Amino acid sequence: MNFYLTEEQQLIRDTARRIAREVVAPRAPELDDTGIYPEDIFQVYKETGLLGLGFPEELGGSGAGIFGLALAIEEIAKVDNACALILLLTRLSTSAILKAGTEEQKRKYCAGTARGELRGAFGLTEPGAGSDSANIATRAVRKGNEYILTGTKCYISGASVADFFLVAAKTDPGAGSRGFSVFIVDRDTPGFRVGREDRKMGVHGVPTCELIFEEARVPAHNLVGRENEGFKLIMWNLNSVRPCVAARGVGTAEGAIQYAVDYARQRQTFGQPLIEHQAIQMMIAEVAMHIEASRLLTYQAALLVDEGKADREHAHFLSMAKAFATETAVEACDKALQIMGGLGYMHESLTERFYRDARQLTIVEGTSQVQRLIIARAVKDNLLNWY
Ligand SMILES: Cc1cc2nc3c(=O)[nH]c(=O)nc-3n(C[C@H](O)[C@H](O)[C@H](O)COP(=O)(O)OP(=O)(O)OC[C@H]3O[C@@H](n4cnc5c(N)ncnc54)[C@H](O)[C@@H]3O)c2cc1C
Repeated sequence: MNFYLTEEQQLIRDTARRIAREVVAPRAPELDDTGIYPEDIFQVYKETGLLGLGFPEELGGSGAGIFGLALAIEEIAKVDNACALILLLTRLSTSAILKAGTEEQKRKYCAGTARGELRGAFGLTEPGAGSDSANIATRAVRKGNEYILTGTKCYISGASVADFFLVAAKTDPGAGSRGFSVFIVDRDTPGFRVGREDRKMGVHGVPTCELIFEEARVPAHNLVGRENEGFKLIMWNLNSVRPCVAARGVGTAEGAIQYAVDYARQRQTFGQPLIEHQAIQMMIAEVAMHIEASRLLTYQAALLVDEGKADREHAHFLSMAKAFATETAVEACDKALQIMGGLGYMHESLTERFYRDARQLTIVEGTSQVQRLIIARAVKDNLLNWY
């Protein structure tokens, strides 16, 4: 695969890098301390076109695809993970609509997101079903021109600022994953409300909240794709965004280890800079190898998605990128903190925030264990043909 960036891709990377350094980095510690969503940074993304990277030109985007979006996410994650998540949410809440939505749904929700006029969130997880997502209990019953939704979703990123929600519900509860449908729920839907906000370990700049459906009345034209065929669609949605989660991992790892390397150059112990000690060099080399491998897996995954290969036949490559890059982020933050010594553990150092933020990545959008289940299934099914 060819990973030489085109001029357009270099421009995306350079623009995102500039925004990361000049706009996001100075605000990041405050976002972490206050947990207030950064409206100002969202506006900068809007003005510079970063919100439209993952959308085709006819829907108000720039047509840079998941590859272009992943490049931007990697740059922003080098300085702040929550602000990288804001970019990721543009596709987490819309990929299913792009794939199976009506023209009207695409024009309203995809184009609205690309232009920064609307914000979406993704509602799959429930108190009783996370990894086992086929087991959700939220129910949707058709009544005339509406579906009546009842249930609760939890840990939904960006819910407090979202205008619409891509939501999975059961339309045929007895049919397992075959009784599953996907809906767009507008924020002002009667019977729907955003519930309590979580207190969490990191990624404070993007709040996570409950979604509460108490006989919420969703217009039937907000069904995405076909009734009872939503499970594959929601998996497609998750698969197609895996390169973006992976890119958050790559950027976080790069940002954390670079910070520790800069420190190790100037910190003296036993008469020489920390970076001259072999034990420190081994840690840095280990992380450097894993970052480069992560980036290759991530770019490969992004290219596959942009070629329309986010299906079961290719899901394992997307899972490898997600699991490897996010685990590398945790490893890099852990090693960076260790290299910094006591200072690394203190709130005044970047590594303390980076470590807390990185721990989110191996859980969200399919845990590391779930990614391994997908990879193992592909091996069992002979999809990885090594001979
Ligand atoms: C900060 C944050 C933001 C989030 N944002 C969103 C969002 O925007 N939208 C959304 O829908 N969800 C969101 N989530 C939810 C997230 O996707 C789930 O937490 C995740 O899928 C895991 O589900 P669970 O928490 O129920 O864990 P469980 O499914 O209960 O799993 C618990 C542990 O058991 C392991 N496990 C489970 N089953 C198996 C198995 N068969 N084999 C081996 N190990 C297994 C898991 O890997 C995990 O380690 C968010 C979560 C967090 C923490």
